[in-house]
Amino acid sequence: MALVNEHFLKLQSNYLFADIAKKVNAFRVTHPKEKIIRLGIGDVTQPLPEAVRKAMHEAVDELGSVESFRGYAPDQGYPFLIDAIIKHDYASRGVSIEPSEVFVSDGAKCDTGNIGDILRRDNTIGVTDPVYPVYIDTNVMAGRAGTFVDGKWSDVVYIPCTAENNFIPTLPDRHVDVLYLCYPNNPTGTTLTKDELRKWVDYALRNDVLIMYDAAYEAYIQDPDIPHSIYEIKGAKKVAIEFRSFSKTAGFTGVRCAYTVVPKELNGLSKDGPTVSLNSLWSRRTATKFNGTSYITQRAAEAVYSPEGKAQVKAMIDYYMTNARIMREALVGLGLQTYGGENAPYIWIKTPGGLSSWKFFDKLLYELKIVGTPGVGFGPSGEGYLRLTAFGDRDDTIEATRRLAAWL
Ligand code: PLP
Repeated sequence: MALVNEHFLKLQSNYLFADIAKKVNAFRVTHPKEKIIRLGIGDVTQPLPEAVRKAMHEAVDELGSVESFRGYAPDQGYPFLIDAIIKHDYASRGVSIEPSEVFVSDGAKCDTGNIGDILRRDNTIGVTDPVYPVYIDTNVMAGRAGTFVDGKWSDVVYIPCTAENNFIPTLPDRHVDVLYLCYPNNPTGTTLTKDELRKWVDYALRNDVLIMYDAAYEAYIQDPDIPHSIYEIKGAKKVAIEFRSFSKTAGFTGVRCAYTVVPKELNGLSKDGPTVSLNSLWSRRTATKFNGTSYITQRAAEAVYSPEGKAQVKAMIDYYMTNARIMREALVGLGLQTYGGENAPYIWIKTPGGLSSWKFFDKLLYELKIVGTPGVGFGPSGEGYLRLTAFGDRDDTIEATRRLAAWL
């Protein structure tokens, strides 16, 4: 009989959202007539922009004739999309990226999880806490996390981000080899200024730390002083891999398209001493395990950068950010301590009266029929908080604030 990867057996129960789904289903069965407002899982609700749909239709037609048919896509992505990414996401911010540094994929979840393939098992991992659970669970699967004791993995360095430190992480007191940073942050909805991010890049340069920078929500940044890319900070190309996604930017959660930037300057160490290009390792890994994002999807992503696409995407982001504003203002007005929601589609609420995250979740579900996400599901420093998303429908968002006002 085949032996299994026993690190999988250490994973804690189900994935957070599966636990929430179970609770919501149980509520639905016992309260079939109640209208539930879902502000929990971070999925979008607005339809794909018209420019994107048009590009997809055209791509489908191209595939329908012998002359323009395309089979396997290039492993790293079609040049038309990579060029658009470089021009609009980087060159426009003064960042120089080469086409061979961009890897188009089918999702930032897969990329942030799969990137561990090119790293040795015995690297020490650091995360800001609370954290997007994928970073932790994929390192548990790889055997890098140690054992789970009192809500924490013994080999993971947790960097708390709470109201006490204004959600600004402080440099860890233990060496880490790999550090995950996610800004704008899921789940707290908070951001780092250029100066704050520079502190991390300088720290990584001084201490040979590899930063995994997840910028899946950069499109939600409103404040011009907040960096969209870690490469806006000098020296970052020597220490950071950046992950981006079209999921939240342009409603691609079901379409699936993302990309990862692995700079040529970025090196790792092999056991015997010489440095190794992480770009070449990720390129090899991609060529071996991935056969490219579909042509239709890449044409759809390219359309996000067209003038019409940009205008439609902006309107969509404005819609969600208006939801965020409506919720934030209502929650603040009700006297709840509320964070985020200004440069990110997430609102992070301190639970009232010292309730635990799950108690507050249950109260919202059973008394208000609102689904949030318990903060503790994102890590120990999330205890005592709950996340609401701005990805809901406008009427639902307003109705949720009305129910909260009546309740409090
Ligand atoms: N990174 C963060 C921080 C996320 O919150 C999410 C989705 O919720 C992802 C990545 C996943 O992105 P994708 O849909 O591209 O897999």
